[in-house]
Amino acid sequence: MRPRKVALLGATGSIGRQAIEVIDRSPDLELCALMSGTQAIDGLAVARDVRHVQVGGKAAPLLEASDPDVVLNAIVGFAGVEATLWALEHGVTLALANKESLVAAGDLAVSAHRRGKGLLLPVDSEHSALFQCLEGREPETVRSLVLTASGGPFRGRTRSELEHVTVPEALAHPTWSMGRKITVDSATLANKGLELIEAHWLFDIPYDRIEVVVHPTSVVHSLVRFRDGALLAHMGTPDMRVPISFALAYPERPSVPAAPLDLAGGLDLHFEAVDDDAFPLLGLARDAGERGGTFPCAYNAANEIAVAAFLDGAIGFTEIADTVAAVLDETDGAPARDLADLVAADDAARRAAARGMQPA
Ligand code: NDP
Ligand code: MG
Repeated sequence: MRPRKVALLGATGSIGRQAIEVIDRSPDLELCALMSGTQAIDGLAVARDVRHVQVGGKAAPLLEASDPDVVLNAIVGFAGVEATLWALEHGVTLALANKESLVAAGDLAVSAHRRGKGLLLPVDSEHSALFQCLEGREPETVRSLVLTASGGPFRGRTRSELEHVTVPEALAHPTWSMGRKITVDSATLANKGLELIEAHWLFDIPYDRIEVVVHPTSVVHSLVRFRDGALLAHMGTPDMRVPISFALAYPERPSVPAAPLDLAGGLDLHFEAVDDDAFPLLGLARDAGERGGTFPCAYNAANEIAVAAFLDGAIGFTEIADTVAAVLDETDGAPARDLADLVAADDAARRAAARGMQPA
């Protein structure tokens, strides 16, 4: 059998680099296209004989020219929406790391997926775990999904203690090494908020049946509760190469050189509740998700703008949540009929967030 052709979008990022490692090791996977936002990727492409390469711009022409079997969308932020919709509409297998696209485009993505009838395989570790625990189960046997959250570097702090935390402190994630935006999202728990909405769309399950629990060691990647009281958990050392490989090679599950989990060495399986007062972005995501329409799109857009401002030193850590809350208050959340509507809603929320952050 010929190798599976992978179009890797976001090739220069944290997920992108780990995906290249996975693909380089596998004789069954071959890169057919590479895309970044601004960084040059010629070196990566030449070394692997990849002819279709693009820096910035729309993903569709690159995807059409390279004719992939799998699109790995590892772009960060709303910029990934176009590629997600393209793969879903064309029935090309989508290995999805770019959760923001599913959060923002929820309804449109699900409709495109129904029409395209391709595979949608989550790369996010929690959703990869849930996907595996759910495989082959009847939906009516599932009581709830349980997303685990590490709690980030500020677990245990109060809201007032979070007011003066610094960018380097926010970037020091206890268990995962990732890009800057998602690392800040993990510190505010916006990442878990995005993942809650991502899980709703991926697994077609209402929000009141998706739980979130803090699990600091990130050994249990997520769990499914069944109606008979049983819970299935997915465990392993935190290593993104595992879910990346799972999605790219599905359903083959080839070997990955991840450190084995040392069970007898004493596993820390501590769980605790989320502190909703200190980390309001999780509750705001739940509200936005339940309200539907373009509320999740506005949540995501405001969060992207606020996180960038925090990383630039323009606002404090707790102002990220304040900004998102203010934008959600003033948005009408009208549903998007098409991509143009969605882009307009995203843009309006970005402008509202930027206005709200201007010094008085
Ligand atoms: P990084 O910031 O490390 O990388 C982002 C990538 O996206 C870079 O290659 C960047 O290119 C590219 N990019 C940015 N804008 C554009 C654009 N307009 N068009 C094309 N490419 C663009 O992020 P991560 O790898 O950490 O995260 C990527 C996605 O995966 C995010 O959605 C994140 O939430 C998700 N994810 C990440 C995990 C992780 O462990 N890192 C875990 C689970 C999910 P350039 O370098 O040129 O800017
Ligand atoms: Mg995750």
